[in-house]
Amino acid sequence: MSAPVASLAVLSHAAGCRTHCPYCAYQCGVVMSQPGGGAWTVAGDPQFPVNNGQLCIKGWTAAELLGNPDRVTTPLMRTAAGKLAPAAWGEALDFVADGIRRIRAEHGPEAVGLFGSGALTNEKAYLLGKFARLAVGTPHMDYNGRFCMSSAAGAGNKAFGIDRGLPFPVSDIADAEVILLVGANSADTLPPIMQWFDRQKANGGRLIVADPRRSATARTADLHLPVTPGSDLALANGLLFLAIEERLIDEAYIASRTVGFDAVRSAVLTYDPPRVERITGVREAALRTCVRWLAEAEGAMILTGRGPEQQSKGVDTVLAFINLALALGKVGRPASGFGTLTGQGNGQGGREHGQKADQLPGYRLIEVDAHRAHVAKVWGVDPASLPRKGKSAYELLDSLGPDGGIRGLLVMGSNVAVASPHAGNIINRLKSLELLAVCDAFLNETSAEADVVFPVYQWAEEEGTMTNLEGRVIRRRAAAEPPPGVRGDIDVLREIATRLGAGDKFAFHSAPEVFEEFRRATAGGTADYSGITYDRIDREEGVFWPCPAEDHPGTPRLFAERFHHADGKAKFHAVTHRPAGEEPDADYPLYLTTGRYKEHYNSGAQTRLVGTLAAAQPRPRAQLHPHLAARLGAERGSVLVLETRRGRAEFAADVSHDVRQDTIFVPFHWGGRGAVNLLTNPALDPTSRMPEYKVAAVRVAAVRPPTDQEVPA
Ligand code: SF4
Repeated sequence: MSAPVASLAVLSHAAGCRTHCPYCAYQCGVVMSQPGGGAWTVAGDPQFPVNNGQLCIKGWTAAELLGNPDRVTTPLMRTAAGKLAPAAWGEALDFVADGIRRIRAEHGPEAVGLFGSGALTNEKAYLLGKFARLAVGTPHMDYNGRFCMSSAAGAGNKAFGIDRGLPFPVSDIADAEVILLVGANSADTLPPIMQWFDRQKANGGRLIVADPRRSATARTADLHLPVTPGSDLALANGLLFLAIEERLIDEAYIASRTVGFDAVRSAVLTYDPPRVERITGVREAALRTCVRWLAEAEGAMILTGRGPEQQSKGVDTVLAFINLALALGKVGRPASGFGTLTGQGNGQGGREHGQKADQLPGYRLIEVDAHRAHVAKVWGVDPASLPRKGKSAYELLDSLGPDGGIRGLLVMGSNVAVASPHAGNIINRLKSLELLAVCDAFLNETSAEADVVFPVYQWAEEEGTMTNLEGRVIRRRAAAEPPPGVRGDIDVLREIATRLGAGDKFAFHSAPEVFEEFRRATAGGTADYSGITYDRIDREEGVFWPCPAEDHPGTPRLFAERFHHADGKAKFHAVTHRPAGEEPDADYPLYLTTGRYKEHYNSGAQTRLVGTLAAAQPRPRAQLHPHLAARLGAERGSVLVLETRRGRAEFAADVSHDVRQDTIFVPFHWGGRGAVNLLTNPALDPTSRMPEYKVAAVRVAAVRPPTDQEVPA
C-alpha cells in the first residue's frame, strides 16, 4: 500500500519541531519540518544525545504516516449489515458507554476488560489504568508490554529491587571492555545504538553475541554463541559454573554487595561443560573464552533482548544472567553491569504507571495496602474501592467471550489480533465479544473486528512524555495538526468516563494537565517522576527517573552505591534449566523462533502502511538452513506451509546459512495467512506471565511453488 505524504497545516515550526520517532524504545530524536508548507519531512536530531542525528529506515520514513490516505478520520460503528460505517462522535461514545454500563449491570464490572500499549505516552498509560479502576471498576487491565518486557522486569525487581531496562545511559556501552549480548539483534532492531557498539570496538572492546541465528548483529561479533532456542538459562549457568571452576568470581563483591550466592553456587554445580554443550549446542572452548573475556574486563556488560526473555522460563533465564553479572562483580561499576534492551516506544514508562493488572502508578503494587492508600488519596477515592489484581495480557484475551467472562473490551493502541500468541484463538475470542471498542489512528486486524473505532491522534500530533530504554523521560511534542474529526485518547477517556458518571475524575483536556496529577501519583514510588517537569525535560534533554524532587538531578546510573532492596544488597536466585513448554518431537521435529525485520515494527500496523517499508519487505519469509531446505525439497521462494499444534501459516522460503539446521525463523509483523503468531505457543512464565514466543515445535506440512502473486518482484 503506497502512502503519499499529504500536506498538513503548519503549526509555525518553520525551523522544525523537535520530537521523537513513533516506534521503538530507542526513541530517536527527530526534527519535523514542512519545507514550503508541503510534505512533512523527518530528519535525525543531532542535539539529542542518544541517537546523535542517526535514524533507521523506519524513522526516516515516519513522516509517510502523516496524511496517509488510510487514516481513520471519523468514528466508525458496525452496522446491522456487519460493515464499519462512519458515525458521529456522540453516537459512538454513547454506544460504548451504554455497552459498558449494560455489561456491568448484567455481569459485574469484571466482565469489562481494558487493553493498553507500550506505545502510549506516560500520561495516556496512567489515565487508562485510572479509567479501568475508577470509571469502569474492573481489575482486568493489562497491555501488550506484557508480551515484550515482563520477564526482564520481573527479574530486575527480584534481583535489584527495581526494574529499569538499562541502569546506565547507552553512551556507557562505548566504554565497556566486553559486552555479552543475549538474544538481541540490535543492528536490525535499534540500528542507531550501533554507534555506541562501534565506538566500543574502536576503543578495543569485544562483543559476544548469543543467538540461534547469525544475525546482522552476530556478524559484527568477536564471538558468536549459536544457542539452541530455549537453552539460554543453561548457557548462563554453564558460564557461571566455569567462572567458579576457574576462580574468576569476585568473592569480595559477592560478600559486600549481594545475598544468596551459596544457593546459586550449589545450583550450578551440575552445569559442567559437556552437559551445557549438549543442551545449548555451544562448544566448551567458546564457553571458556566467553567467561574469561567477561571476567577479565574491568567493565563488562551483559545485555538481554527478547530471545531469552520471551520464554516460559523467561524470568529465571534473565535471573541466571544477572547471577553471572553479579558473581563476576560487574554490576554498579563504571561502563559495566546488566541491562535489558526494551522494545516498544514507551515500553519502559508503559510498565511503570498502572497499565499492568497488578500495578498502580509509580511502580506501586495493587495488592499492597500502603500503595493503594497513596494512589487512592491522589485520586480522591476510598482505597477499598480500588479493584484488586486482574488477569495478565494473554489470560485476559483468552477470557474474552461468554465462556471466559469478559464480554466487553476497550483496546488502546494495540493490534492484539496479530501480536498475541496463538492468534487464531484470540481472533475467535474477539469475534465473540458483546462489545469491542478500539482507539487507533489506522484500521488494523484488531479494529477489523470492532463494534466501534475511535480515530485518535498519532505520534507527531500529540503532546506527552515517553520513557526511553535508558529510563530517560523525554517529551513527545506536537508538530503536525491532526486531521479534522480526530481526537486525542485523553478526550475519548474523559467523554466515556463522563457518560459512566466518573467525569469529575477525568476532567483533563491536555497531556500537561494529566502529567501534573501523574507526578503526584508517582511521588514516593519506585518509579518516582515527581521531580520531572516538561521544562526540565526541555532544558536537560530528558530526565532519568527516579527523580523525587525538582532540585534532584535525576538518576542516570543506578547501583553504584546500593541496590533497591531494603538492605541495599542485590539478591542472587538459584535457577535451573527446564525444557521449553513445547520441544521438537517426532510429529513436530523443528524449532520455530520469531523476531523482527529492520523495516517493520511490532504488528506492522503502522509500518505496513509506509510505502517505502512495504516495498522493501512486502511479506514475511521463513528463514531455514540450506541442509534443511534440501531435505524438504525447498528452494528460495518456495512456499512453506508451517504447522504447529495451534495452527498453520504460509511463508516464502528464505534459504540461509545464518540459522541453525534445526530451527526456522519467521518475523511477526503480518496478519492473515502470513501470521506467525497463529503458530506460537502461549505457554506462560509463572512469574511474568510472558508467553513463549521464542520457542515452539513446528513441522513443514507442505512445500509448493509460489503462485504468480507470491513470486517476489
Ligand atoms: Fe530510532 Fe527506533 Fe525509530 Fe529506528 S525505530 S529511528 S531506532 S526510535
